[in-house]
Amino acid sequence: MAGSTTHQATAKDREARLVVAVDGPSGSGKSSVSREIARRLGAVYLDTGAMYRAVAWHCRSQGVLDDPEAVVAAVQNIDLALSVDPDVERVVVGTEDITEAIREPGISAVVSVVATNRAVRELLVARQRAEIDGHRRIVAEGRDITTVVAPDADARILLTASAEARTARRSAQLGGTVDATALAEQVSGRDARDSSVVDFMTPGEGVGLVDSTELDFPATIQAMLAEVDRQQAVNHPNHPNHPEGDRA
Ligand code: C5P
Repeated sequence: MAGSTTHQATAKDREARLVVAVDGPSGSGKSSVSREIARRLGAVYLDTGAMYRAVAWHCRSQGVLDDPEAVVAAVQNIDLALSVDPDVERVVVGTEDITEAIREPGISAVVSVVATNRAVRELLVARQRAEIDGHRRIVAEGRDITTVVAPDADARILLTASAEARTARRSAQLGGTVDATALAEQVSGRDARDSSVVDFMTPGEGVGLVDSTELDFPATIQAMLAEVDRQQAVNHPNHPNHPEGDRA
């Protein structure tokens, strides 16, 4: 395909440490896009939204969602295993596989309860940083990765799309089964609640912006990988993609 020149990592590139941070609102496509750029970059993939969803599922199943202190205790004790293989989507709490359950609208509706609890965020941010430190190459995705979890990442990108495009994508994801009001609540309502604790609508300083409103999936991947290359070149002047790199 035209334009897809430099984006398969070479064997040498794949050995170098790389942390890519991606944030964005719901329906921006950041999960599928981040998963794919992780594959292309030879990296693992951390879905931090799945961690918040797993915590919400766990607290709901324990009947403690209404009790902020019990929620924090549940997070401290949660036995959570999350696959970071971009080809394997698996979330397990204890012995229960909740990979599918955490995607249900019932979880989307309550996840902000745990995500707006600051003590919960501190615990999960610490876990996410440990996970990032534990892998040589990683793409981590969420709402506060570029700003709070990994502000020193090699590349930081905010992936956005218009509200209309995001709602249409979420509708397609759910197979057109959800009515317009419920859909708007799931996309804009959840984002509004989440925005009270983190800003993921405007890029922080040094964070690149990719707007996918007019881009299909392959074009979004190209734009993301080009932005990763651009930031690596800026942040690491000896990187092979830097125009001055060979001469340094
Ligand atoms: O990305 P996803 O829609 O799966 O995220 C689910 C929820 O997890 C978000 O609505 C938000 O409440 C929370 N979240 C967060 N910070 C992150 C990732 C997700 O607050 N880094």
